[in-house]
Amino acid sequence: MAVAVNLLDFDATGLAGYFAGLGEKPFRARQVLRWMHRSGQDDFDAMTDIAGSLREKLRANAGIMPPAIVSDRLSGDGARKFVFDVGGGNAVETVFIPEGGRGTLCVSTQVGCALDCAFCSTGSQGFNRNLTAAEIIGQLWQVNRALGACPDGRVVDNVVLMGMGEPLANFGNLVTALRLLLDDNAYGLSRRRVTVSTSGLVPMIDRLRDECPVALAVSLHAPDDALRDRLVPINRRYPLRELMAACLRYLDEAPRDFVTFEYVMLDEVNDSEEHARRLLCLTREVPCKFNLIPFNPFPGSSFRRSPSPRVRRFAEILMNAGIVTTTRKVRGEDIGAACGQLAGQVRDRTRRGRWPAAAVHEVRSQ
Ligand code: SAH
Ligand code: SF4
Repeated sequence: MAVAVNLLDFDATGLAGYFAGLGEKPFRARQVLRWMHRSGQDDFDAMTDIAGSLREKLRANAGIMPPAIVSDRLSGDGARKFVFDVGGGNAVETVFIPEGGRGTLCVSTQVGCALDCAFCSTGSQGFNRNLTAAEIIGQLWQVNRALGACPDGRVVDNVVLMGMGEPLANFGNLVTALRLLLDDNAYGLSRRRVTVSTSGLVPMIDRLRDECPVALAVSLHAPDDALRDRLVPINRRYPLRELMAACLRYLDEAPRDFVTFEYVMLDEVNDSEEHARRLLCLTREVPCKFNLIPFNPFPGSSFRRSPSPRVRRFAEILMNAGIVTTTRKVRGEDIGAACGQLAGQVRDRTRRGRWPAAAVHEVRSQ
């Protein structure tokens, strides 16, 4: 039997193309898109304004198949972590962070991550594969249902692609999911309420600007190449000068926008006053905000979180120079849902194992 087509894999254009192949008009595709994403419907028979003959065709050829939730845990501080089974013994994680009546959803894009940043739990798990577009958007689809947000509820009003994986290393599927997030017939979020976080894949930052310019966050973590090479190994391929130039190009056509620089605060590694001053120098031409992330430990990690007074001092230096700087509240730590703690279950196919202890030592003694 032919494998059913998963309609969650299509954005509006893709779905219209698929419907054309079935001999159906584009407006039919729009109707089905709304049923799927706005009403959270996965049963063709419940799509009451769709002709019976089309429903039958869809039943025979297609399905609406998000990944299954295998665990749903609530943190003492309100963050809620969902674990999704994505087959082959792999699982990915999604975190909902409520704020008032609404909230932010932190979505995964890969099973593991190949980029191996020294302080990241996901990176230490190795890499298995890219998530499909259906698996990326399916996280939001399922969470909406779990939160009782269907039909047409807008509980998730902010989506950050900051879960497991490097979003720009899974570009095609990422862009399909982004288009659905922005589409009024699907989730209808504004570009500023969708953020892609990258460790700095320079050519892909340019492609994102050309194909789907949403808000950009760049994981900086160091003011110079020597330190960043060690913390974020992709820096050896795309060093800071190229990364800053890419950030400027990204903002070229949106002069009122800014890049958010994320900066994980690692005790005695990258958190001195001197580091803060050099950051000001590095980023002086880029309209930006800073988001300081106190390091979140995970089993086997050998970094320590910077003490709060040092984080405050660091923030002060950036703010005194006129840069809006926030310090991320630690949320969901008790359930392993804080930044960088997401580990899911990854069958590593890269066999590179963990970051060698000697290298971590080298970084800490910088
Ligand atoms: N791969 C992308 C997005 C996922 S990581 C990226 O690197 O930007 C999301 C954010 O969490 C990044 O800024 C990352 O550097 C940060 N992070 C990773 N491990 C962390 C940890 N243990 N503690 C705090 N932040 C961490
Ligand atoms: Fe990958 Fe981001 Fe973790 Fe680096 S910080 S290993 S890019 S998920």
